[in-house]
Amino acid sequence: MRTQRNIIETVTTNGLCTGCGLCASIAPPGQVAMRMNRSGFVRPVVSQPLSVETSRTISQVCPGLTLAHSADVQNYHPLWGPVESVQTGHAVDTAIRKQASSGGAISALACYLLDSGKVDFIAQIAVDGKDPLANTLQISRSHEDVIRAAGSRYAPSAPLQSLHELLSTGEKFAFVGKPCDVAALRQYARINPAVDTAVKYMLSFMCAGVPSSHGTREVIRKLGAEPKRLVSFRYRGDGWPGMARAVQDDGQSFEMDYNTSWGTILNKHLQFRCKICPDGTGEFADITCADAWYGQDGYPDFAERDGRSLVLARTKAGSELLKTAAHNRAILVEPLETAQIEKMQPYQADRKRVVLGRVIATRLARGIAPRYRRLRLLKASLGTSPVHWLRNCWGTLRRAVVEAQ
Ligand SMILES: Cc1cc2nc3c(=O)[nH]c(=O)nc-3n(C[C@H](O)[C@H](O)[C@H](O)COP(=O)(O)OP(=O)(O)OC[C@H]3O[C@@H](n4cnc5c(N)ncnc54)[C@H](O)[C@@H]3O)c2cc1C
Repeated sequence: MRTQRNIIETVTTNGLCTGCGLCASIAPPGQVAMRMNRSGFVRPVVSQPLSVETSRTISQVCPGLTLAHSADVQNYHPLWGPVESVQTGHAVDTAIRKQASSGGAISALACYLLDSGKVDFIAQIAVDGKDPLANTLQISRSHEDVIRAAGSRYAPSAPLQSLHELLSTGEKFAFVGKPCDVAALRQYARINPAVDTAVKYMLSFMCAGVPSSHGTREVIRKLGAEPKRLVSFRYRGDGWPGMARAVQDDGQSFEMDYNTSWGTILNKHLQFRCKICPDGTGEFADITCADAWYGQDGYPDFAERDGRSLVLARTKAGSELLKTAAHNRAILVEPLETAQIEKMQPYQADRKRVVLGRVIATRLARGIAPRYRRLRLLKASLGTSPVHWLRNCWGTLRRAVVEAQ
């Protein structure tokens, strides 16, 4: 068997790994495992040399190396990617709406997919049953399962690490993941037809980046709770945006608001790859959901109220699913002008406008950077001031020199 230089090591040592886990699933069993590293991120660990074929497949689909839309991508907006429809809305089921991160659109769609028989299960991330701080892949077959997985978990997850096991069940399913997870799956579908046969829908959410598990520990420390005594921990939900809440085995409960947990702690622990990501908005999904924040002075205001989701259908399949889910009263939606998205998600708009400068800086500093194709980054760059763009380029240059993965 021919082997070649370890492609996985190239990705991880240059800080390009997103931690999706697809490489671990592509490699023959026992060769690559996903493990938490000392920086608090989930990374592939290679125990046997990879064959040339395995390396080639990984290099074609790894989202840390490549993000490329297919040549026939439709209705492409330079900031928001492929857009079939833009809506705001929420789950009709009030229990889902309350437990979810935003308006519960993802969970409502997942429940509808199960109820309607369009899929046999949902592959999604949920809290690990044995460790309230760990994320794990959950196979959801009921509303109860889906509600258990609802809510954002601002910590590393590798939902694709057992993809081949899911594909071998012979069942059809929907996949929920971060934008990079979904991009990896979409890119893999181009070279492995088994993906499209089994995965009927890909759902994602807007993502500002994955914080290290050290971020979670800092939140818990600042809450004053003892990590070893926790029986449950959630980042948000139970309201919108909802509180980070830790509960100890002695019944003591600790809370922190979203502005403090995300805005002052978690967002300081993002992995390097997320800072040069051009796809914070889930462009490769059938449907992307996000927080449809209400604005104040041009910026989102995070006051507690009933949850509201921003819902973008990106493909014909996604658009059809939304229509039937709304028709069957799983989700309540109303149209939104595309121009209004930026008021709800100003950070994502800015990010797309400056990312080209950040990628160029990464290549200059590290001699390697991801390849991005058909994401209209040049066009997006023209929407911001050259000074702002260059500042981002310079900031990344400095960070790429000093920062580890
Ligand atoms: C790391 C991270 C960063 C985010 N950044 C933004 C942002 O910048 N702007 C924004 O509007 N929204 C962001 N979100 C998403 C947002 O918090 C909501 O999840 C989104 O609006 C969907 O809300 P919902 O009520 O429809 O989802 P829910 O009905 O609550 O469902 C959430 C779904 O997300 C899945 N999920 C949760 N955590 C993870 C994870 N770590 N990895 C993979 N899947 C997961 C769950 O399995 C569930 O299916 C982020 C989420 C995460 C996890």
